[in-house]
Amino acid sequence: MSGFVGCAIAALQVLQAYDPGHDLPALRRKHAAGDLIELGSNENAWGPSPKALAALRSVKDAETFRYPDPMGVALRQRLAAIHQVAIDEIVLGNGSHEILMQLAQVFCAPGDELVHSRFGFAVYPISARAVGATPIAADAMAADSQMPLGHDLDALFDAISTRSKLLCMANPNNPTGTWFSLAQLTAFMQRVPRHLPVVLDEAYIEFADAPGLQSALAIRNRFPNLVVTRTFSKAFGLAGLRVGYAIAHRDIIDLINRLRESFNTNGLALLAAEAALQDRSHLKTVVTNTRRERDRVTVVLRGRGLNVLPSQGNFVLIDFGVEAAPIEADLLRQGIVVRPMLAYGLPHCLRVTVATAAENDRFLQALSVPSGLSA
Ligand SMILES: *Cc1c(COP(=O)(O)O)cnc(C)c1O
Repeated sequence: MSGFVGCAIAALQVLQAYDPGHDLPALRRKHAAGDLIELGSNENAWGPSPKALAALRSVKDAETFRYPDPMGVALRQRLAAIHQVAIDEIVLGNGSHEILMQLAQVFCAPGDELVHSRFGFAVYPISARAVGATPIAADAMAADSQMPLGHDLDALFDAISTRSKLLCMANPNNPTGTWFSLAQLTAFMQRVPRHLPVVLDEAYIEFADAPGLQSALAIRNRFPNLVVTRTFSKAFGLAGLRVGYAIAHRDIIDLINRLRESFNTNGLALLAAEAALQDRSHLKTVVTNTRRERDRVTVVLRGRGLNVLPSQGNFVLIDFGVEAAPIEADLLRQGIVVRPMLAYGLPHCLRVTVATAAENDRFLQALSVPSGLSA
């Protein structure tokens, strides 16, 4: 024992690092023949736009040895035009994960509280603990409700106290796939204190097609405390390059910029993201295929008597009602990676990314459910 852990700030002594579920580089080495099916991290099985790949292939030397644009102006201009916001209402991140961490740094100090939902994204409580603040988990919806295990906006509201400095939620939510409507969000925002920043993590919004489910950007002019985060990691298929962004009041963006590393979004990521935004037809193909496969996988699994939560993301959460670890281990033996949910407090569940039809078929064929469970 070196004693260094004891020297760390108190908050870090109780902080557990983000758990990606598996050692994927090791699994990829083991399955070097290319027979690994990766359904554990909600990546985009169709990959990025060919335009993004072409932009990467045409990179010039100077674009690697010079520092990139510290403000990412070209990409922010494109995003501003698409979202009809001002350029100073956008900040770029090394993935949206980074921006979520920065938001906690901006707003939360030791003793402050960050409110999130019980089965929300694991990064929100980590972001609070990293700055010595206290994450407060609001109860989620009941398992037998319309939106099983999803965000209960009343419970989230009740969890707000005078110590609350940030509230974070995803819509659609990861890992449940559940969602709430713009009308429900509007009613919620009307009750929330005006000074409390509310983060709407919209990492999966492109895949949404449920009636009433819409981006919070539609109401941001009415609620200056709304912060919307987006990512290029999911529908745009650029998880490996790490680009995300936030849209918020310019004062909030300015605060993030004060602590943001100046070159946090790298030059190649900037180029690829810009090109990806110009290929709406690739995005449309990805989204259409994902929705179709999401519906198909859900129907097949439910047809086997399994409890599949309604999902608006590019993944489904299956609640087996029994310990899911043996089921997961059996899939892994067959080269199929899904996401264990023990760390999320859902030991009976597995989260499975919706991928290409061929990959989904491999999963469906490989999945064997303990006797007594399947219909
Ligand atoms: C995948 C995901 C993100 C995106 O993270 P990046 O850092 O942008 O890759 C953000 N929020 C949620 C809920 C996610 O599932």
